[in-house]
Amino acid sequence: MSKEDFYTLLGVARDADTDKIKKAYRKLAMKYHPDRNPGDEEAERKFKEVNEAYEVLKDDEKRAAFDRFGHAAFEQGGPGGGGGFSGGGGFGGFADIFDEMFGDFGGGGGGGGGPRGGGRGSDLRYNMEITLEEAFEGKKSNIRVPTSVTCDNCTGSGAAGGAAPVTCSTCGGHGRVRTQQGFFTVERTCPSCQGTGQVIKEPCTSCGGQGRVHKEKTLSVTIPAGVEDGTRIRLGDEGEAGLRGAPAGDLYIFLSVSPHRMFRRDGANIHCRAPIPMTTAALGGSIEVPTVEGKLTRISIPAGAQSGQQFRLKGKGMHILRSNARGDMFVQVAVETPVSLNARQKELLKDFEEESDHQQHSPESHGFFDKVKELWEDLKE
Ligand SMILES: [Zn+2]
Ligand SMILES: [Zn+2]
Repeated sequence: MSKEDFYTLLGVARDADTDKIKKAYRKLAMKYHPDRNPGDEEAERKFKEVNEAYEVLKDDEKRAAFDRFGHAAFEQGGPGGGGGFSGGGGFGGFADIFDEMFGDFGGGGGGGGGPRGGGRGSDLRYNMEITLEEAFEGKKSNIRVPTSVTCDNCTGSGAAGGAAPVTCSTCGGHGRVRTQQGFFTVERTCPSCQGTGQVIKEPCTSCGGQGRVHKEKTLSVTIPAGVEDGTRIRLGDEGEAGLRGAPAGDLYIFLSVSPHRMFRRDGANIHCRAPIPMTTAALGGSIEVPTVEGKLTRISIPAGAQSGQQFRLKGKGMHILRSNARGDMFVQVAVETPVSLNARQKELLKDFEEESDHQQHSPESHGFFDKVKELWEDLKE
């Protein structure tokens, strides 16, 4: 049977925005709503079609698929193996609309129904802040995670004495039940088994039949040397325990490396700024700078060093993840002009000034003033 185009069905243009589509849908849904048209099969059919069209067009991804493939996009095993939005058509979407129109429907929690995968434990996120030094060295750390663990008493089955659960009689093991609402059926999570498809006759007293209990778990985490800010470490199956023996979730550790007061990191390299006295810059000498491994290292400053000049310390940067190599450290010097001079110092500097020939001793500033003069001349013309 050939289906009507979703756009035609809702009476909107192909380029209509989400707002227009929503308005058109609401109008039609009200018009064909079974409560307003008792016993009218035609209206009921229309109502379903309108809902189906809206389900697709309100969702950018589904809409794009429909624009490309038409109805074929939503048929069994559609283009490219279907993936992505399974459960799009049919009942899955139907309940959503019901919720939207009638508010709280008291139904089961959000999507993903069916007996399979229903009880998988939640993934957990743990935020860990480490210092740059810790990122450099790597770290073994014990973290305490409040979570759910498998109940020892029933080994996760949820049944007293470890008895095996039996198939839920309410839903026959499907995990979902259908109820009649006016003229159509609504499918929802089975209230007897919460969608797992199985029930236990005599629940375990320690966990109340959940198969898991709340507990603070201590985990040992190894932070490898060289980790970067924003690194995510996944500890498989260390998240919350699943319901009644279902698979556990994962634990994700989100690392942030706190800013350092002296070092700035750029990948495997470390940058650092070091002020040096004017005399050291002029005469040459050496200074001590700290390194990321917590030591001091000496670098020699050649006579005539300038502000902003960079010195490279090879292999003094961060560890490179999963390798023995290290990045470099770059020290940028800033020449400090002396302050709070006494009378004799001022005398000495004045004498120095008199001895100086700018062209020879301060070539950059000398050149700079020449350039300013040229610029000025050019502007006047
Ligand atoms: Zn138990
Ligand atoms: Zn059930």
